[in-house]
Amino acid sequence: MPGILTAVWAEGGAVSAQELEMVRAAAGLAASLGCGMAALALGPVSRGAAPALQRVGAGEVIYSEEAALAAGPSEAGLAALAAAAADLQPALVCLAADSLGRDWAPRLAYRLGAGFVGEVTDIRVEAGVLLCERLVFGGKAIATMAARTETAVATLRPGAGREDGEPRRGSGPVRALGTRIPFEVHWPRRVRMESEQREGPGLEEAKVIVSGGRGLGGPEGFTALGELAAALGGAVGASRAAVDEGWAPATWQIGQTGKTVAPDLYIAVGISGASQHLVGCSRAKTIVAINQDPEAPIFDYARLGIVGDWREVVRAMTETVKEMRGW
Ligand SMILES: Cc1cc2nc3c(=O)[nH]c(=O)nc-3n(C[C@H](O)[C@H](O)[C@H](O)COP(=O)(O)OP(=O)(O)OC[C@H]3O[C@@H](n4cnc5c(N)ncnc54)[C@H](O)[C@@H]3O)c2cc1C
Repeated sequence: MPGILTAVWAEGGAVSAQELEMVRAAAGLAASLGCGMAALALGPVSRGAAPALQRVGAGEVIYSEEAALAAGPSEAGLAALAAAAADLQPALVCLAADSLGRDWAPRLAYRLGAGFVGEVTDIRVEAGVLLCERLVFGGKAIATMAARTETAVATLRPGAGREDGEPRRGSGPVRALGTRIPFEVHWPRRVRMESEQREGPGLEEAKVIVSGGRGLGGPEGFTALGELAAALGGAVGASRAAVDEGWAPATWQIGQTGKTVAPDLYIAVGISGASQHLVGCSRAKTIVAINQDPEAPIFDYARLGIVGDWREVVRAMTETVKEMRGW
């Protein structure tokens, strides 16, 4: 009987990097607890995800390819997840803190009567007790929480698990869930799928991120950042203020309510350095800030700071990088 159940949306056998990281973190936890760990792969043709899940430590892989899941992950996926949890009675259900995990986790916790901790930044076992850390007060403090219920549900942000070398390979059975999920007419049905069009690496994988904020003054600024990012082989990110202005898509948002990234180099352009933004980029190895205000808080966190108008600085940087690359 597994102690930890994880679930991923694995349509067509594909699992996101963030979900794989979550499964890996759960596998590490299971090893320190000495308990079992299963991964539930949901979606049409999800069985194909088993090798990838086992490479990051999943023991048993359970898959559900029920026809109801073809209508989209939300309701049918939750029903399948609840059925698996009812069957396996895990002590902990882990989901990635992505849009799907944020949708499923609190509703699953309600259905199971389980404790829920969202946006976990660190999860570990101390003296046999499972402890979850999460940021509170806009990222200014850390709360450490332990569930008082027999089952807990948690969403894990990237980096929540301890890295302890190579992931241990899981080798349990791969089996079908075996619970029928009949489609209910009131459930939403997926009408169409649009994949994000992005040239170059995604934010989660990028080694270099050039991120823009309200200081760009308009959407055109992101074209200039795109040029610099392309020259550096990186991706473009944004602050929430820039996203709220409609200058950048929501999928580019970095921070507390956006993505958590860990590039080697994070260039923050026209971003003030609010704590809610910094929680999303503080795992970057080097932060470079470009801001015209020498008192901007971002300079307290940046390894290198450039005080000036971003237009001049970014233009000069792009030209220099292109020159160095012989473009
Ligand atoms: C619950 C909650 C969740 C949140 N989640 C997020 C989140 O996920 N991500 C996020 O980013 N924010 C988030 N926020 C918002 C956050 O608090 C800040 O409001 C936001 O990060 C500010 O964005 P900004 O730095 O782009 O804009 P501002 O704070 O307005 O900063 C703009 C900066 O640009 C500089 N500037 C202006 N003109 C120029 C120029 N020409 N050249 C160079 N610099 C210039 C200014 O000096 C200033 O420092 C959240 C807030 C709350 C309450």
